[in-house]
This record gives sequence, structure tokens and C-alpha cells, in this order.
Amino acid sequence: MVRNVVILGGGTAGWMTATYLQAAFGDRVSITLVESRRVATIGVGEATFSTIRHFFDYLGLAEEEWMPSCNASYKLAIRFENWRGPGHVFYHPFERPRLVDGYPLTEWWLKLGRDPFDRECLVLPALCENLRAPKHFDGDLFERSLHDGGDTKRRSTMAQQETQFPYAYHFDAALLAEFLAEFGTQRGIRRVLDDVREVTQDERGWISHLVTAEHGEIAGDLFVDCTGFRGMLINDLLGEPFESYQDFLPNNRAVALRVPADMERDGIKPYTTATAQDSGWIWTIPLFHRIGTGYVYADDYCSPEEAERTLREFVGSAAEEAEANHIRMRIGRNRNSWVRNCVAIGLSSGFVEPLESTGIFFIQHGVEQLVRHFPDENWDPTRITAYNTAVARCLDGVRDFLTLHYRGTARADTPYWKATKERVLPDTLAERLDLWSAQLPDPGTVYPYYHGFEPYSYHLMLLGLGGQAPRRHRPALDLVPDGAARQELRRVRAQSEELVNALPSQHDYLARLH
Ligand code: FAD
Repeated sequence: MVRNVVILGGGTAGWMTATYLQAAFGDRVSITLVESRRVATIGVGEATFSTIRHFFDYLGLAEEEWMPSCNASYKLAIRFENWRGPGHVFYHPFERPRLVDGYPLTEWWLKLGRDPFDRECLVLPALCENLRAPKHFDGDLFERSLHDGGDTKRRSTMAQQETQFPYAYHFDAALLAEFLAEFGTQRGIRRVLDDVREVTQDERGWISHLVTAEHGEIAGDLFVDCTGFRGMLINDLLGEPFESYQDFLPNNRAVALRVPADMERDGIKPYTTATAQDSGWIWTIPLFHRIGTGYVYADDYCSPEEAERTLREFVGSAAEEAEANHIRMRIGRNRNSWVRNCVAIGLSSGFVEPLESTGIFFIQHGVEQLVRHFPDENWDPTRITAYNTAVARCLDGVRDFLTLHYRGTARADTPYWKATKERVLPDTLAERLDLWSAQLPDPGTVYPYYHGFEPYSYHLMLLGLGGQAPRRHRPALDLVPDGAARQELRRVRAQSEELVNALPSQHDYLARLH
């Protein structure tokens, strides 16, 4: 049996992988995690996707146990600013528009809407605008019916998510890794703080040992490469090719700042903001105690100095003391993320770019798939292929969805934004775009494999970005009575107001939790 797992790397990927495997297999599998004191983690990655709650749920961790230690806050949406043009704003929340007579409200909005689609079709934008928490002080979710898997004693996984859970989290990445390290080591994970200098392979080329500077050789059956963009085992050692997405997604650099903030005075926005810039976009992630921000850009259009200047101007005087973290990004994925007895999880496996916060989602997907496809002594190649297919499809699907963010904007006012309209498209996306500009996507006309995003997210992005959205509603809606849809649009508005009045502010809720 495969009993001995060695994880190389102690960033978010390393510790999420270690603790998840431990939660899945207990002491039937021994887990060693080796991390360098010398090689820093990437230091960003603080906004998540709504499926993240299954990770904490699987570990048996309630919000009050981990959120205060990680300075975490709630994220209900991404707010897109200036993507369509200066001053334009829309939300992409974790909320499926309701169905009326078989059509989502977004479809009806094309026929009946007067105000911005997000405020008319969804309740979460109002909670975002008013800095509300998604829960009442007693811990009840704002709309109980949205909460699937109500029995908290039953562990859940991403694969079981049937309804759209209405929020994700923001957290301090370094604090989360430290929290998980303590949680994991208390439950038997061996933590080795050391540098790996060499790796030993057997005669078949399978990894047999990591050779560390101070702790000697560390043997294992299965090795998980969590060394970040380096891909020390999967790429450097095993030579697995990396397939770039750069032709479709040009952003290859970022500069990040950690900015102090007075959350008690200013409140905590329950959303990530993505603000379009001349050569990319800036993220703003409000945690309980500070703000994380960064400019993601393409170095064909903007130098690192210019990017840092733009970011500092954007943030203002609060960033004066903050040290800039300049990051080169490797955009794409390994041809295979599982090769011989090595599985890459995290940035070593693939990364699309920070837009839509999918890096940690990929980690969670990778480790859930690893548990499902965990090998026995036969290392069945069919199972390994199934793993690689699931991981590749997930990344490729997100690549297509993010490419839509650039192609789908009406904005073309700088060389960077003009080029987004001329760049080649993935084949899988090109054939769908024509259809979507005639009518909003149906479940059968979006990327068909699991990649975290449902058709409704495509609706919201197409309508928000404006460049490729249908101009008219479906003709069929002229032949269906629209009274029920009008009533539902009115209900959304009324419920939004009720919720804003009933829910506490995110700051007040978290202050109690902390
Ligand atoms: P790293 O953090 O780079 O960790 C690598 C580990 O390997 C370190 O512990 C290091 O010490 C160890 N290591 C390396 N070499 C050796 C050696 N020789 N010996 C021993 N140890 C070694 N994701 C999101 O979900 N949301 C976001 O908002 C988001 N924003 C991002 C913004 C940017 C600019 C970037 C680049 C990424 C972002 N991501 C985001 C992705 C997210 O940051 C990563 O998925 C996450 O941090 C996991 O990184 P990692 O653990 O794979 O790698």
C-alpha cells in the first residue's frame, strides 16, 4: 500500500494538502511536510471561492475556530470597477439568479430590466454596497434555504455542492499556513524545516528520497510537489512540460502591497474589488485587520516601476510604509500534474491568474481529486490518467472563463485593452462566443467539465462587461406571460432592502467573532 506521503513545500498548497490528506486517511497514511526557512512563500493568495467552506468543513473546523487566527473576513462577491469603461461598476456575487418559468431572472432582465442587472436580479449586491455580513448575530445565514448540507457533523466535499453557497472568505495567507501547520502537527503530521538539496530516483526514475541539508534523507511512496512556480519535482526533476496560457491571458506579473487600515472606522467591504487599469487590473482584498492589494499586469505594456507607481497612487498615503512584493507569474498548467509517484498541487501544478480567485480553489480541487484517485501498490495508470484529465479540464475551463473577461469587455481605450479584442481565443471558447452574443449561455453551451463556474457566472460576466452580451432577450420570452417575472424582480428589490436592514455590518459581526 501507499502509506508514506512526503509533501515538499509549506505554502498554502503544502499545508492544505497535508491537512486534507490527514483528515481523509488519519493515521493510516503517514505524512511528512518539508518546507524551507530560506525560500519564501509567494505571500499572496488571500481571496477565495465559495467552495472553500467544504475544506474547513472536511477538517471539522468551525468559523470561530479558524477565522480569528487568520484575520479572515467574508467575501460575497467580486466587484468589477471600470472594466466596461470609467465609472462603471457591477458585481459577480456567489448567487444564482432565480428561475421564473424556466428562465433565469437575467434572461428576463434583458426584456424587463430598467436598472443595472445585478441590483435587479440578485440580493447580494445590496449587502455588498451596505457592507453587511452574510449572517445574523446568532450565526444564522441570511437565507437559510441557501445553506445545503445543514448537518454540520457530516463532512462535505466540493463534489457534493448542489446549491450556490453565498459566500467565501478573505484571509491572511501566511497566518492560514501557520494555523494549518499547527493544526496538522497536533494531529500527527511531521513537519521538517529544512532545504531540499537533492532528490534521489530509483532505476525507473521514480522518486525515492528527498535529501535535505540538515535532516538527511526523507523517503516516501508518494511525493507531492508544492514548491510553487518552481515546480522543483514535477518540472525540474521529472521534466514534465509546462503548457503556457500566455497567448490567451497576457498578464505575467504582479506587484503587491499590504496596507494598514482602520476597519472600525471605515467598515469592512464584504467583497474583493477588481479595478481595471491601463495595462491590467488592481485587486483590493479587505481582511479584518488590513487590506491586501496588488496590480496584475502584462510586462509587454507596463514596466514593474510603472506598475508599482500606479498601485501606490491608487492606494494613496496609507501605502507609504508598505514594502512592494514584485512577482513573476507562470501562467498555464503542466501537461500532466501527476507523473510517476509525484503529484503537483498548487502553483507547481498550474495557475491562471488572480482574477476570480481560483488559485486556492485549484489546490482544493487537486487534493480532493487526489483523495478520490489515491493509488495502491499497483499505481494503476488509468486512475492516474483520470486524475490528470480532471485537473487539466478544471484549469482549462477557468482559462476560458477568464479569457471571456478580457474579450467580453466593451473597453478598448489603451493598447492593452485593444489587444484583448485581437488576441487568439482558445478553440473551446471561440465557438461559444458567437452563440452567447445572440442569447445568454444555457447549461449545454458553457464549458462542459467541472471548473467551478456555473452558467450563471457567464451570464453575470457577459451582462456586466457589455462587449459580447446579447442586445435583446430571447424571442421565446415574448410568447410567455411575464407577470411572474415582474413580480420576482420586485421581490428581489424588497428582499434586498429587508436584508440590509436586518443584517449586522460585517465589521460588527466579525468584531464579535474575534
Ligand atoms: P508557494 O507559496 O510559493 O510555496 C512554495 C513552498 O515551497 C514554500 O514553503 C517554500 O519554502 C517551499 N520550497 C521551495 N523550494 C524548496 C526547497 N528547495 N526546499 C524546501 N522547501 C522549498 N489564489 C487565490 O485563491 N486567491 C487569490 O486572491 C490569489 N491571488 C494571487 C495573486 C498573485 C499575484 C499570485 C501570483 C497568486 C495568487 N493566488 C491566489 C494563488 C495563490 O497565491 C497560490 O495558489 C497559493 O499561495 C499557493 O502557493 P503554493 O503553496 O503553491 O506556493
